[in-house]
Amino acid sequence: MQSMTKYYLLAALSRQEMHGYHLIQELEKITGKKPSTGQIYPVLKEMQKSGYITMKASSNGKKKIKYYKMTKSGEKFFAEMTKRFSSLIEATIKAKVKVCAHCGCEMIKGSVSKKIKGKKLDFCCNSCAGSFSRHL
Ligand SMILES: [Zn+2]
Repeated sequence: MQSMTKYYLLAALSRQEMHGYHLIQELEKITGKKPSTGQIYPVLKEMQKSGYITMKASSNGKKKIKYYKMTKSGEKFFAEMTKRFSSLIEATIKAKVKVCAHCGCEMIKGSVSKKIKGKKLDFCCNSCAGSFSRHL
């Protein structure tokens, strides 16, 4: 859960600099649930320590507003996290369903695997595999 909060915060900050309240609104938009400041601020603090974000406090009249901004290393970290998440999701889906590279039909089992141009591709049948290689 904390790593998801971290990910959402970074996703929001990857678009623009934001103040704390704005971040809470962004998270509410993504998750459909309003996070508490107690959920957000420890994560923001931790990311500051890690050097992924910087915080700048400015005062607006009597109110002190904290602005958060993503650093270069935060961008790198976010990109790595995105890659990890998407390969995780991809792997989960791939483990269940294979898609024919030629006709696009989904196969649970009984697929034909062919190595084409160094890449392993799955087909639903030999005739799809044949048509695919002919149309390269
Ligand atoms: Zn097919």
